[in-house]
Amino acid sequence: MTDLLTTEEYKAIAKGLMLPNGAFIDGTFRPAISGKTFDTTNPATGEVLASIAACDAADVDFAVARARDAFEDGRWSRLHPGERKEVLLRLAKLIERNAHELAVMESLDSGKTIYDCSTVDVPETVHCLKWHAELIDKIYDQVSPASDNHIAMVVREPVGVVGLVLPWNFPLLMLAWKIGPALAAGCSVIVKPAVETTLTALRVAELAMEAGLPAGVFNVLPGSGSAVGEPIGRHMDIDAVSFTGSTATGRRFLGYAAESNMKEVTLEMGGKNPAVVLDDAENLDRVAAHIVNGAFWNMGENCSASSRLIVQKGVKDALLERVVAHAREWPMGDPLDPLNRVGALVSKAHFDKVCSFFEKGQKVLLGGKAKDGFVEPTILDFADRDARPVREEIFGPVLSVLTVETFDEAIALANDTEYGLAASIYTANVKKALRGARAIRAGTVTVNSFGEGDISTPFGGFKQSGFGGRDNGIHAHDQYTQLKTIWVDLSDDADESVA
Ligand code: NAP
Ligand code: MG
Repeated sequence: MTDLLTTEEYKAIAKGLMLPNGAFIDGTFRPAISGKTFDTTNPATGEVLASIAACDAADVDFAVARARDAFEDGRWSRLHPGERKEVLLRLAKLIERNAHELAVMESLDSGKTIYDCSTVDVPETVHCLKWHAELIDKIYDQVSPASDNHIAMVVREPVGVVGLVLPWNFPLLMLAWKIGPALAAGCSVIVKPAVETTLTALRVAELAMEAGLPAGVFNVLPGSGSAVGEPIGRHMDIDAVSFTGSTATGRRFLGYAAESNMKEVTLEMGGKNPAVVLDDAENLDRVAAHIVNGAFWNMGENCSASSRLIVQKGVKDALLERVVAHAREWPMGDPLDPLNRVGALVSKAHFDKVCSFFEKGQKVLLGGKAKDGFVEPTILDFADRDARPVREEIFGPVLSVLTVETFDEAIALANDTEYGLAASIYTANVKKALRGARAIRAGTVTVNSFGEGDISTPFGGFKQSGFGGRDNGIHAHDQYTQLKTIWVDLSDDADESVA
């Protein structure tokens, strides 16, 4: 964990930052070919931070050609695994060395609190890169049980040039979740950060060069989804895309692939994740702390946020009293003040979207106020299970409470959604916990806690939350490698005639 500084120290770092503003292609910063730029702002203040190269299809073509050259000549893809490991470990070290600078850059660009950036985003980014680096020379391929006259090897090869299209909620961490395994596998990457949050991806690409990554392997193209994301999705010379973002955009990437070269597509998408609390849950204070963390961490701008609290009637009042008390302990305000736990939403447009879920007549148990980019942690109690805040992903600090009578009703309600990313179940009864964990259709189910597992466990969604593969764990490498069978005939001429 990065040590926390004071607000004044963070402000001094912010003042001294050199913000990157070019596209990073073939080892160097460049303007967009069109010469166009876009402004990136600090959503907590509205201040313009930098004007950044606005790439389009021409830049994508140029970057893919450089990435292809790099892949084919083997400067990275065929480097000894031990050397690839050393480079990625050096990158992790450099990020660690620049931790305060990166945390401040991330906070300014996204509205996230410096507390979270310093204690989660930056250290987890380092941890993720180290984990995948360490794996490079520890994965073995396979030999199949073929006959004595044959040997059949099943080997993994890097898939080639990959497009990595990122969301704005964890700009550094989502970058690490993708580049960690992609670079470990030997791929060349074209990264498209979200337009709201490009700064840290550009800085990490620069640090990767300093770490010794060859030019052309790691390219970052800032720009909008339509100008850069779609050309990546449709590119005939990109072999795979790994995407994290909304279900609506994910669906488009399947279309792009179908209409172009049928590239491999992995999608990590939205969620409307249930936290089920049964009457027999133990230590309600602890449960309440998890519920608050699950709903309000990162302003609820979290695909695995527990945004639906499904609570059994007998424990409802006692639990909600504690949830409200815990939520009141989360101060909101200046993201650069390390005491604040709730910062600004990522943009004015997103702020407006979150506010659109507030309506007259709702039963507000906490919060409900919003101003100048900041939304208070809000708890709404619903009898109507089809209310918009109950069904749709809000991606803001809004928790919807639903009351149930029985375990079976709780599980059915947990599954009553098109999404299936994450879920939690709180109970002292091991059988109920495990029956619930099996019955809930979600990629991650946590018991008596909120979380996403860690770097060693695969992360991804069932139903319309995920497609094609998993991030994290050794399983993430499947996205960036393909299997080849090498079949060798060992028989002598005398053994058998060739039919
Ligand atoms: P988004 O609007 O889908 O954007 C994700 C990325 O796709 C951005 O880089 C975006 O570019 C790009 N994009 C947008 N429209 C596109 C198009 N037509 N063609 C190609 N690319 C396009 O999602 P977001 O609002 O940034 O992120 C929030 C969503 O991400 C939520 O639904 C959340 O649940 C999900 N999420 C999922 C996970 C997970 O692991 N499952 C993790 C984090 C977030 P712009 O820069 O122009 O927007
Ligand atoms: Mg910004």
